[in-house]
Amino acid sequence: MRSRHGLSELRPYAASDANTRGRRYDEPPPAYRGIYQRDRDRIIHSTAFRRLVYKTQVFVNHEGDLYRTRLTHSLEVAQIARTATIALNINESLAEAICLAHDLGHTPFGHAGQDALNDCMRDFGGFEHNLQSLRVVDELEEKYADFPGLNLTFETREGILKHCSTRNARELGDIGERFLDRTQPALEAQLANVADEIAYNNHDIDDGLRAGLISIEQLNEEPLFSTQHDIVKSRYPELDDRRFTHEIIRRMIDVVVTDLIDESARTIAALNPASIEDVRAADAPCIRFSDAMHEKHISMKRFLRENLYQHRRVLGMTAKSRRILRNLFSSFMSEPRLMPQDFADAVGENDTDRARVVADYIAGMTDRYAISEYARINDPDVEV
Ligand code: MG
Repeated sequence: MRSRHGLSELRPYAASDANTRGRRYDEPPPAYRGIYQRDRDRIIHSTAFRRLVYKTQVFVNHEGDLYRTRLTHSLEVAQIARTATIALNINESLAEAICLAHDLGHTPFGHAGQDALNDCMRDFGGFEHNLQSLRVVDELEEKYADFPGLNLTFETREGILKHCSTRNARELGDIGERFLDRTQPALEAQLANVADEIAYNNHDIDDGLRAGLISIEQLNEEPLFSTQHDIVKSRYPELDDRRFTHEIIRRMIDVVVTDLIDESARTIAALNPASIEDVRAADAPCIRFSDAMHEKHISMKRFLRENLYQHRRVLGMTAKSRRILRNLFSSFMSEPRLMPQDFADAVGENDTDRARVVADYIAGMTDRYAISEYARINDPDVEV
């Protein structure tokens, strides 16, 4: 096995080219890359990945150039996960591939968009962004001559599908099994999941402060923030606001990631898995925070939900985006020919099939494309 950075080899329980459960359609292994590097590269070359740059994380893209988008969020998630994989000697390329793909199925307008589309789809099987991310890589990306989708490995697909209802799990076959038998995904998937939360907790603080929606005083109620705030304040009393904020946030990320690595290493050592099968069979994920850190992390999530995601200015955009998506959905349902030819041609005979095609089309839209489609359909002055 290749050594990384000349330091150490992958642990036997890490996902690897040797223990993969393979691809849906058999392919010869790549000549110069590992199989998970190939997955990562296919994700980066996908259309859905490029669209992430114009999709909302919390702030709609046109609200300002400096806020995170789904693309920069995904890059930050990958960066955090990669650091931890190196520390734990597990598969860096797999974790990176999962992180870069984890939000591919997100609708325009962030969670407001997801909720709105899920409402529209209530009678037609619902809409869930994790499942949609899997649908994007398995079916909707049409690029390769020999197979539909990106034909990613089982391990990357398993990591992308981080939640799933029992009903959907039954329909998904092997990839859904772990939601029925309550087993764990590979460590790299567990890690991608936590790295996502670490990334958004921290960058949403940064974006929230930048937008003036939350304040340092409010954040000082949170122990995770106040501890680092006090250290930075006493060491660098003269620092300007931007550097002050960034210095606190980078220290918070460091503290949280260090705790995650240490506690996960301890948990793995206690389980002492001999193989990836042992990791899967464990009662609980091995990638975890210490109890004390978990509490602070959850508290910060709660703070952001109450003070940022529910902020009047964020909710204003939420209401607007809900109206846009509902209008698009009903327009395309009653008149599929308003969609591009390939989508219009794909609508089946019954309403459920039609709704799924409409949902695929809407979910793929960027924020600004959804807004321009809304104008095209509803504004008599806009050329059709
Ligand atoms: Mg995410």
